[in-house]
Amino acid sequence: MASSHLTQSRFPILGIPVHLLTNTTQTLKDRLADRQGTHVVTLNAEMTMQGRDRSELSDIIHRAELVIPDGAGIVLYLKLYGKRVDRVPGIELAEALLDHAATTQDSIFFYGGAPDVSAQAATIMTAKYPGLQIVGTENGYVNPDDELCDRLQKLQPRMIYVGLGVPRQELWIDTLRHLCPDSIWIGIGGSFDIWAGTKTRAPKWLCDRNLEWTYRLYQEPWRWKRMTALPKFAWRSILYRITGK
Ligand code: UDP
Repeated sequence: MASSHLTQSRFPILGIPVHLLTNTTQTLKDRLADRQGTHVVTLNAEMTMQGRDRSELSDIIHRAELVIPDGAGIVLYLKLYGKRVDRVPGIELAEALLDHAATTQDSIFFYGGAPDVSAQAATIMTAKYPGLQIVGTENGYVNPDDELCDRLQKLQPRMIYVGLGVPRQELWIDTLRHLCPDSIWIGIGGSFDIWAGTKTRAPKWLCDRNLEWTYRLYQEPWRWKRMTALPKFAWRSILYRITGK
């Protein structure tokens, strides 16, 4: 799919762009096949508020070829403007692409998570999707030193999954994507933890009611401070819809 199509499908969320696509997974499969280098950002309310506060992050999101509506807040915001889009959770998109890569033999690199977590996630996903070629893993608590850069440059993985949390992963991808310019780079937050089994996702009934955040707060109470961004996002969105400012 041509990049111009993606540019046309952008819609601003409090000034931060998101793409409104009907089939995100297929778009990425096409870009993978066509070797169109892509930075995928999985946008939620928290990241939107961070982007408004940090111009560096906002610039990166504007530059990213694909920004997907990962959070329920983004989908609700779009509803205020009469735009009905399905939520695309980054973890599900990333897994759908692993499933696809197992058949196309496209190689993948996992970077991020506590020591052994990305390696454990790789073992589990390779067992789940036979044929998957995870060509390397690295934990997210080593500095992205020359050795890691050399590995990526030599391996040229077709997809690079980066789980360092927001905004660390977006900054990292933006700085290093030139090493593998034809690859798909995705910031996947805590997905390695879920795949490795060290954390669990919220039950579906909570997700369906836009209450996934309550589960995360229960699992990781220290997140409360970050989560104050959610009511701020809701308030800003309503104000913006009414006043346009
Ligand atoms: N992480 C990491 N290096 C760091 C800080 C965090 O690899 O220096 C990992 C952490 O182990 C976890 C992920 O980044 O797996 C962050 O997950 P979280 O769910 O907090 O992501 P976010 O909500 O920011 O998308």
